[in-house]
Amino acid sequence: MTTDSKLASSIRAIKDYPKPGIVFRDITTLLGDADAFRHAVDELVKPYQGLGVDKIAGIEARGFILGGALAHQLSAGFVPIRKKGKLPHQTVRVAYSLEYGVDEMEMHIDAVKPGQRVILTDDLIATGGTAEGAVKLLRQQGAEIVSACFVIDLPELGGRKKLEALGVEVRTLVEFDGH
Ligand code: AMP
Repeated sequence: MTTDSKLASSIRAIKDYPKPGIVFRDITTLLGDADAFRHAVDELVKPYQGLGVDKIAGIEARGFILGGALAHQLSAGFVPIRKKGKLPHQTVRVAYSLEYGVDEMEMHIDAVKPGQRVILTDDLIATGGTAEGAVKLLRQQGAEIVSACFVIDLPELGGRKKLEALGVEVRTLVEFDGH
């Protein structure tokens, strides 16, 4: 895996946020830079052109921003995966693991149809717990997960391997060491 240095330099690092020892990878600086944002979206969609993708599923909240752009570029629909209690219609729910403890995420029950081809997206994959939950939700509704893509990978935390062990192809553009 090679890191896209142009993109890496557009991402701001905030030390000890939200708690000591964590380096928060802030993509608002990437999103605010027209060239970097377009470049990230272009690179993410490139291998998916012509694959017949039905839906992009984005994880709240930064996955919505990338997912909307990817959906537009691929002429696919968009599916929001949200923290529990936020979606207005009937939902399906799954528990997922966080660094400390568990939480739950939801998707509308009719957001994907069995057999639909879906790409999952978020800004960053760390332990992979969040993405794993989303994969379970989508598969539970019969979706075929074509791929999962993220701007940033923190390889030391093992998220990519966790998704690959579930049979999900993972694509990322930038790797950073540490947490
Ligand atoms: P994980 O479930 O451990 O893969 O964590 C991924 C989710 O947490 C994504 O929605 C990320 O936006 C967020 N996240 C985890 N670690 C970081 C970090 N160092 N900087 C920014 N966001 C992070």
